[in-house]
Amino acid sequence: MKFHIVTIFPDFFHGPVDYGIVRRAREAGLIDIHIHDLRAFTHDKHQTVDDRPFGGGEGMVLKPEPVFECVDKLGFAPRAERITGNARQSVVLLSAQGRRFDQKLAAELATLDEIVLICGRYEGVDERVNTALADREISIGDYVLSGGELGAAVILDTVSRLLPGALGNEASSQQESFTADNTPHEAPSAADSTCSSGGLLDYPHFTRPAEFRGIPIPEVLLSGDHEKIRRWRRRSALAKTLRNRPDLLGEATLGKEDRRLLDEIRYELQNDIGMAETPGRIVETPGIPFAKKP
Ligand code: SAM
Repeated sequence: MKFHIVTIFPDFFHGPVDYGIVRRAREAGLIDIHIHDLRAFTHDKHQTVDDRPFGGGEGMVLKPEPVFECVDKLGFAPRAERITGNARQSVVLLSAQGRRFDQKLAAELATLDEIVLICGRYEGVDERVNTALADREISIGDYVLSGGELGAAVILDTVSRLLPGALGNEASSQQESFTADNTPHEAPSAADSTCSSGGLLDYPHFTRPAEFRGIPIPEVLLSGDHEKIRRWRRRSALAKTLRNRPDLLGEATLGKEDRRLLDEIRYELQNDIGMAETPGRIVETPGIPFAKKP
């Protein structure tokens, strides 16, 4: 997949493209990243990319000409074809006013061949970039950043790790927070201690040492019993989602076992029994105690 980033700060991307999965995906030829310096598409001595807003008001606005010229040179399909999905390309304007970026949108973008990410600055970008050049306006959250570069880096990272071959283990992207699968969650037939997220938050992870600063890991994780571990993980994911992001439960793929576990968790919360459900505490499943000090 080819990424084009249009920015007035090309050096900003040294960090985001040079580490971890994005770097490995680049080196493996899964992604190709082109950073375009907007100032290279200006024609005046001062390489002016901004101007005052029509109608008055605060701040400056990114001019349309260099942005159009830069994107035109990439030879993308016409906007109408990109909007209908006939071209596997997209020109994205990063904007606080856009559709909110999430895992579902990331998965949609990961099916494309080529994408342009236009980073705004100042008070924003001339609106004609949005209405006549970009085919999507994407926000990375309900807050205002100083520029679109952080948003472009977020999209680049999230989409890259969804491309086949980007993660060492393909299954890991299926088990992560927010990742919806289409099958209602039920116990697997074969021994498997992992569970797909099904649109929930991920379950808690622990590594060695088994006890750190007096805090033991849940004993079940040392049991070697795949089915018990799977159940504990699923229950913890449900409890964490209920506590931190109850809005996700409506959309999540829940099976019979999940609904029973949720009823149990809700009952325990209402009656203030059993589990340590308060933020910052490890969720303990009743009947599955924390590991004891060796
Ligand atoms: N005046 C704009 C508004 O109130 O919506 C904010 C402009 S912001 C200071 C400058 C640039 O940062 C925007 O053009 C956009 O590219 C980027 N930006 C700001 N917040 C963003 C967000 N939540 N998601 C994506 N890009 C954002």
